[in-house]
Amino acid sequence: MNKYLLTPGPVPVSTEVSLKEARPLIGHRGSEFSSLFSSIEAKLSRLLRSDGKTVIFPASGTGALECLSVNFTGPDTKVISVSCGVFGDRFREITALTGSNIIDVNVTPGEGVTPGVVARAVDENPDASVLLLTQNETSTGVFNHIDEIISVLPEKNRPLILVDGVSSVGAMPCFPEAWGIDALATASQKGLLTPPGLGLVWLSERAWEIAENRKCNNYYFDLMRQKKVLYKEAPENPYTPPVTLYYALNAALDEILTSDWFDQRRRAARALAAGIEALGFELLVKEEKFRSPGVTAFSLKSGDTSAIAKSLKSMGVEPAGGQGKFKGKLIRMSHYHDFRWPEISLALGSLYAALGNARNNAGDFMAAALKRWEEQ
Ligand code: PMP
Repeated sequence: MNKYLLTPGPVPVSTEVSLKEARPLIGHRGSEFSSLFSSIEAKLSRLLRSDGKTVIFPASGTGALECLSVNFTGPDTKVISVSCGVFGDRFREITALTGSNIIDVNVTPGEGVTPGVVARAVDENPDASVLLLTQNETSTGVFNHIDEIISVLPEKNRPLILVDGVSSVGAMPCFPEAWGIDALATASQKGLLTPPGLGLVWLSERAWEIAENRKCNNYYFDLMRQKKVLYKEAPENPYTPPVTLYYALNAALDEILTSDWFDQRRRAARALAAGIEALGFELLVKEEKFRSPGVTAFSLKSGDTSAIAKSLKSMGVEPAGGQGKFKGKLIRMSHYHDFRWPEISLALGSLYAALGNARNNAGDFMAAALKRWEEQ
């Protein structure tokens, strides 16, 4: 039986990317590795639209978030933590462990973070030196408009803006330098279409300066140890990098850096959502503006989703379930990979069949999806 992985990380990787991992290993202190590293850096510069370099290390997304927390927060820091779900909460939890004083700003899961909510918190806490935001809240499929949020914050003396981009970078626009993000954390296994295992961190010039003047009480995640070798003419990793994942990431970036990649993700998300609604499911994110181009969360109007999930699994289709308070009540289907009409129809057809076990009135869901798909 064929298997269709539709979890929001790891996501399916292309055969080309998988095969790259089978190439023979090379030493990580030689020119061949440096040129591979430089090639990845050049592609990340194009993706993020920044000449600043990206630190890459073996870790999952949580490790990349922890790296930001240990470098920029501590007992002397007041932090505004904006959360609209499980991963916003996790960034807060990691940061609280550094001893920082956290101001919680909670947005109802399923709703997007508005610029006004963040602006008010910043205004009310002028002594806060760090702000935590999540670009794409994977637990609910909410896409936050970080550019709009930052654009309403004061230009001078604003807190250092740390962004969880773990499930956004690669699948949706994320231009940290142009938008005014100070530190961005991401990982290989979602929008970057690479197997799990790499954490990535990008910093603004202001953040690099601050990092230089702060003592980091952590050895492995100390960004200054990374900077020393990252900015050499032949860049390196301070410790042993997972070389085969670098091969894979280098190839995956070529797939992402096609001209209409972000548009394709948005279009697929829109068509899938239209079909899901026409099937009679309820989309968790009500406002289309806040729907993620990478993952769509939905529930049954009544009852839990376990039977649907079980039925999908028996067909070889594997989405993710709900997390936290949505456990057993949500299905989260991802569309980070090259997900076009054939994949949309596979997902909707499988949902139709899964529903068929419980109900018959599915309606004209394919027509609804196709109508949105055909819109440019
Ligand atoms: N933040 C977000 C937004 C995520 O989606 C995830 C993973 N689902 C994480 C953090 C944690 O990443 P990881 O599981 O790779 O540690």
